[in-house]
Amino acid sequence: MNNVKRDYNFGAGPAMLPTEVLEQIQAEILDWRGTGVSVVEIGHRTPIVQDMIRSVENKLRNIMQIPNNYKVLFTHGGAQGQFCGVPMNLVKYNQEVDYLITGVWSKRAADFAKKYATVNIVLESDGLSIPKQELWQKNFNSNAAYAYYCPNETINGVQFASIPDVGDLTLIADMTSSILSEPIDVSKFGVIIASAQKNLGVAGITVVIVRDDLLNQALEITPAIWNYKLLAESNSSVNTVVVFAIYAMDLMLDWVMQQGGVNEIAKVNYRKVNKLYDYLDKSEFYYNMIDKSCRSKINVPFNLRNETLISKFLDEASQNGLRYLNGHMLVGGCRASLYNAMPMAGVDALIKFMQEFAVASNI
Ligand code: PMP
Repeated sequence: MNNVKRDYNFGAGPAMLPTEVLEQIQAEILDWRGTGVSVVEIGHRTPIVQDMIRSVENKLRNIMQIPNNYKVLFTHGGAQGQFCGVPMNLVKYNQEVDYLITGVWSKRAADFAKKYATVNIVLESDGLSIPKQELWQKNFNSNAAYAYYCPNETINGVQFASIPDVGDLTLIADMTSSILSEPIDVSKFGVIIASAQKNLGVAGITVVIVRDDLLNQALEITPAIWNYKLLAESNSSVNTVVVFAIYAMDLMLDWVMQQGGVNEIAKVNYRKVNKLYDYLDKSEFYYNMIDKSCRSKINVPFNLRNETLISKFLDEASQNGLRYLNGHMLVGGCRASLYNAMPMAGVDALIKFMQEFAVASNI
């Protein structure tokens, strides 16, 4: 791919992948690891694919330091599938569950859970800030089946600065946009869900990391493909596996290791995002609207003070190789997503363009 021009993709997901990973996919696409067939043709029950699933699981265990009393599952249906999968696997009918709503995705998760459980809203913020825990601590129901939150709200650009303290409750986290961006202590969680199409590779599978004691209590109505116990017993092969997405994750996890693991990646991520916020905070032309105590370290929403210039800004950015900087349709404005594969050079190119655009607009 040496002669191919690659733009910087600031989209929130599917997100930019490292060029090395795409080149390896290209090199192996016709004959996968000497099988004589493509990775998109090979049967999911062949020993080589079953071994790859185990190997990807072990790589993720190693990178995230996942304790032995957790299972790692690969499921269909995206994170939104797990918005149903989580309550189906963890509650008895209409048992109460606690939800912290800090943006679009946790709100949707709470709405989906209402079909299977009685949802108690512990916190519902304005999508721009997260009030201090002492203000909503009293709203937890200590008998709830679990407490659910989304550490990083991809659309709003709001992120918890630390893991909320839920006492003895089982904590569930949607880490779709934050997984592998910085180290986390998996032992604090009952279940972690994360779609693959950001830091884990391509769309098609969702990782579910689940503590062993939560495996065995699915509601009767739970589809087999989302039943955590059946997935754990079958090497995540209840039905046809998205082999390509597992393969892409395999390459992504190798890439993460080549960067020095999550600790090293996190250092680069902090430098990237701080540079962008520093620029935004000094600018009289652009601004970030999120309370500083909970700004996302991954998805940076911003706006132009003169909103009539937004579409011109986005068009010219795109022409300059800075793609998909539009905000989500629900919130508008602009957003730069800085997942692991976005290099510092991409952030530098964005800031340079933003400076030039501001100057050209006579501000
Ligand atoms: N949760 C979060 C935090 C997300 O960012 C997304 C997708 N951007 C989703 C859930 C939904 O994921 P999916 O489309 O895989 O269902």
